[in-house]
Amino acid sequence: MEYPSYNVNTPQWREITVGSHLPMELGKLAEIARNLWWTWNDDAKSMYCDLDPELWEETEQNPILFLERMNYEKLVTLAHDEFFIRKMNTVYTAFKEYINVVPDHKRPSVAYFSMEYGLDKVLKIYSGGLGILAGDYLKEASDSNVDLCAVGLLYRYGYFDQSLSMDGQQIANYEAQNFGQLPIEKVMQPDGKQLVIHIPYADSFIVHANVWRVNVGRIPLYLLDTDNELNSEFDRPITHHLYGGDWENRLKQEILLGIGGMMTLKALGIEKDVYHCNEGHAALINIQRLCDYIAGGLDFGQAMELVRASSLYTVHTPVPAGHDYFDEGLFNKYMKGYPDKLGITWNNLMDLGRHNPGDKGERFCMSVFACKTSQEVNGVSLLHKTVSQEMFAPIWKGYFPEENHVGYVTNGVHFPTWCATEWEKLFKDNFDESFIHDQSNQKIWEAVYDIPDEEIWNTRLKLKTKLIDYIKRKCSKDWLRSQIDPSLTISIFEKFNPNALLIGFGRRFATYKRAHLLFTDIDRLAKIVNNPKYPVQFIFTGKAHPSDGAGQGLIRQIVEISRRPEFLGKIIFLENYDMDLARHLIAGVDIWLNTPTRLAEASGTSGEKALMNGVLNFSVLDGWWYEGYCKDAGWALTDKSIYQNEQYQNQLDAEAIYYLLEHDILPAYYEHGDKEYSENWIKYIKNSIAQIAPRFTMKRQLDDYYEKFYIKLSEHFHILSADNNAKAKMISDWKTAVRNRWDSIEIKSIKAGNGLDATIEAGKEYEVTVVVDEKGLDDAIGIELVIIQHESGQDHIYEVIPLPLVSKDGNLYTFKGTSQIFNAGSFKQAFRMYPKNNLLPHRQDFCYVRWF
Ligand SMILES: *Cc1c(COP(=O)(O)O)cnc(C)c1O
Repeated sequence: MEYPSYNVNTPQWREITVGSHLPMELGKLAEIARNLWWTWNDDAKSMYCDLDPELWEETEQNPILFLERMNYEKLVTLAHDEFFIRKMNTVYTAFKEYINVVPDHKRPSVAYFSMEYGLDKVLKIYSGGLGILAGDYLKEASDSNVDLCAVGLLYRYGYFDQSLSMDGQQIANYEAQNFGQLPIEKVMQPDGKQLVIHIPYADSFIVHANVWRVNVGRIPLYLLDTDNELNSEFDRPITHHLYGGDWENRLKQEILLGIGGMMTLKALGIEKDVYHCNEGHAALINIQRLCDYIAGGLDFGQAMELVRASSLYTVHTPVPAGHDYFDEGLFNKYMKGYPDKLGITWNNLMDLGRHNPGDKGERFCMSVFACKTSQEVNGVSLLHKTVSQEMFAPIWKGYFPEENHVGYVTNGVHFPTWCATEWEKLFKDNFDESFIHDQSNQKIWEAVYDIPDEEIWNTRLKLKTKLIDYIKRKCSKDWLRSQIDPSLTISIFEKFNPNALLIGFGRRFATYKRAHLLFTDIDRLAKIVNNPKYPVQFIFTGKAHPSDGAGQGLIRQIVEISRRPEFLGKIIFLENYDMDLARHLIAGVDIWLNTPTRLAEASGTSGEKALMNGVLNFSVLDGWWYEGYCKDAGWALTDKSIYQNEQYQNQLDAEAIYYLLEHDILPAYYEHGDKEYSENWIKYIKNSIAQIAPRFTMKRQLDDYYEKFYIKLSEHFHILSADNNAKAKMISDWKTAVRNRWDSIEIKSIKAGNGLDATIEAGKEYEVTVVVDEKGLDDAIGIELVIIQHESGQDHIYEVIPLPLVSKDGNLYTFKGTSQIFNAGSFKQAFRMYPKNNLLPHRQDFCYVRWF
């Protein structure tokens, strides 16, 4: 017999929202709060803040919560405060004018998918650069008035808040978000209920997702959330954490984002010209899109033509290990229903996610799937394009990495979000009035050279002072909480010198970012920071992923060093790097430091934020800085690695940092004669603003996406889909015919003037003739001669010589061209046969290759 001493079930909490108690006159405050436009509009922000600065801070600058918590009597008084009402009306008018502009339908429309969005610190649905980029992109899409909508997930706990224990151990705090208090709204159905999407996960199993909408200016962002009572306890947590949980939960999230995301757009009646997958997480949108076309009567091949023609995949991760791979068993558990819907076999589906189709040992890779189902693929900087071409080369065998179609758009940042109010005002006062709408026009920025040096310097000082105040406030609070010895706090601030050169380092503590590099030679560093002639101070901040032990170790190490007597007040670690801290830090320091391992920083964006605040970059020539760096406008460590051995390389890089600091940077900052500031330093600032900043705005990035990808995709898609998808059917049939006959195609003869393996004379022309039996295909084959050269351990293309078709006799096609090599040396040559059709956007679209 048992005597249970408990019988308690879990409560069924149902969310209720209590309507606002705002007096009617103040309704506009609530309306503005429901659109994130206020996050990049300084007047709107200060409208809230000025009402009650303390409460504004306390409510983490969340206007919804702020208005909820405002004292009712105060609100009533405000409602009769003419001065305030006038201010509110001005902001409201600006808001309405902005919102009421209709989208520009001349440019293709876009649906954008991302796992994270960094829009404001109150919406904890971002972890780092990828999210901030997506958030900035939506804001710019709004400012540029393009027709774009976005899809993401709404996380109950989001990404964590970081605090540090006394010894520098990172503590991750997850706080449940009350969705009713966030600047988001429910997407409602005509029946007055929130829209719910029912997503099939395996067989008959359904997950229910609530749909929310975030208004990002004119851009709608739809967010899905499974933490609702329709779901079982196993599925509610799908959207609990960003990048938390195990691989199974990750797959469930990606199904939600991709398949659920597409189902959401369908439920809302939204169709766009281009579908943009920001990183591989959302690639399953293409599964759902294929299913939809097939349900509409097309076959798999035809559907694939349409899906590919309208898909862009942006890769952000330069190392294959950073991509998502799913074991076949796990993938099968959730995806086994799809082959039937697609009219293909299970292995066909798996092969779409494999580098080597048919290799049963290979897991399903989201990025490979994204590459195979998207016509266009891009990296996020010029260097990263090359890295991505190499990384993805195994997908398109038959072509050398430098030949494949992977392109790039270098990341940028949203100017109104990241440029401090003080600078924005200075620019507006001094630049041409077209500036804001034409902000990537370098000509306009050149006017910075006409701004008096004192004004530049004073703006810098103002922001530095603001940062120092902010740090003092923040640290007192943070350190009180983690029970740091108050005398330590006092001595840190006593030692802190507001006139010293201030260097900032803030980013995720992923090991490739090498936050520890500066501490390679502690004694040397101690000498540098303690030189009374040239005082310098460092501020570090950043979160390590909770499962990244090495990253957390680095934080501990830096905190420990910062507590040593010789570094007290000279090196400070700030907790909980988020968008708010980033904004203060990036505008307040003198130098922004970045020291990634070469080729590991796909782009990086924080240094671009620094630019527009007159802050100089000091960084490895990697990511965006490889393109951005100009002489006398910042400092750079070479892009070449000298050592394979990581430790040597780190030592060498650290050495270079110390040397540049001692010999270039510190003298440039401190040698100012009898002026209050160094003219040389101001010259650097002006160069950096005029020559670099305009090239890294989000406006430039958005325009690049249109020019390089969206327009091309949209045109191709419309060609294929016109007349009831006539051309999609045509090209799909043609591919089938080529596939069926490919192996039977015969090379009848090859004639090369010099013989194929002979020694040839530099500069001399040779005629080359190839005859091919196309076996009933109608001019479907192209032939080219590929000459390669072995250089620095690898084969590279020296030249590709197309052999034009010169005659046709029945099934026999004759191709003829001339080969000529100018350089003496050792080369290799071979012929390449490939399918040829004007409807193919590029060779990798139909990657059949035969070498002979
Ligand atoms: C800009 C930003 C990032 C990205 O910085 P990187 O230099 O690309 O690493 C990460 N976190 C926050 C809070 C940011 O504002």
